[in-house]
Amino acid sequence: MTPTPKTALTIAGSDSGGGAGIQADLRTFFACGVHGMSAVTAVTVQNSLGVQGFSEIPADIVTAQIKAVAGDMGVDAAKTGMLATAEIIQAVAKTLDEVHIGRDAQVPFVVDPVAASMHGDPLLREEALDAIITELFPRATLVTPNLDEVRLLTGIHVTDERSQRAAATALLDFGPRWALVKGGHLYDSPRCLDLLTDGTQYIELDGPRYDTEHTHGGGDTFASAITASLAKGLGVPDAVEQGKRFIERSVAESYPLGQGIGPVSPFW
Ligand code: PLP
Repeated sequence: MTPTPKTALTIAGSDSGGGAGIQADLRTFFACGVHGMSAVTAVTVQNSLGVQGFSEIPADIVTAQIKAVAGDMGVDAAKTGMLATAEIIQAVAKTLDEVHIGRDAQVPFVVDPVAASMHGDPLLREEALDAIITELFPRATLVTPNLDEVRLLTGIHVTDERSQRAAATALLDFGPRWALVKGGHLYDSPRCLDLLTDGTQYIELDGPRYDTEHTHGGGDTFASAITASLAKGLGVPDAVEQGKRFIERSVAESYPLGQGIGPVSPFW
């Protein structure tokens, strides 16, 4: 018999194209050697050309999924991706407290504040961003916004290392223990420089930029790889370092698929 692996839970939306969302999260958990579980928040109609629409899952069904797995199998770390509505966010926050997931409960919780697809299609109702800040950030071990999300959340337009540092500090004011400001969308930089901070340590993670347009699901994959490492018991700086190496290889091996933007790859 195989020994029971660590478990990771994703609370996120489905991508019918299989490149992002829970599909990306679950295959990343698998590739990282943890047992993946999911609470589906929304079903998107999506392919390589973008998101054609979505339907959210009733909030009580989202929370029932979380309670079902937490009560039986246990959760070693959790993450959120697409949450769709303020109602779902509020219900998820309440349930995480009930099942003892979150920074204060010692079960690591990663919030990837997904607002839109890389095509610009909304994945979160506009009024719900405030709920992510007030309901989820104070419960988070780590938040992982990209630069577009940083601008929505803090109003800071990151253009260089100085503004990246200011943005990371501003994110901490919302209450997460750690903030990771991903620099991958700073396209005039030849490197992908990410900044991780808890307010005392400022850790720079440097990596190559790969010349590919096929990065669909990259943010989800990065956050999931970090979550898997946290489930295995790594501290936040080590988990983020491992996640960075995982997403680098995934982007390096990304592939064209369909007529639009192909996914980052789990094949390496
Ligand atoms: N679809 C779903 C369900 C997602 O969760 C995400 C990202 O979190 C996306 C699409 C967008 O992925 P990308 O921005 O990589 O296209």
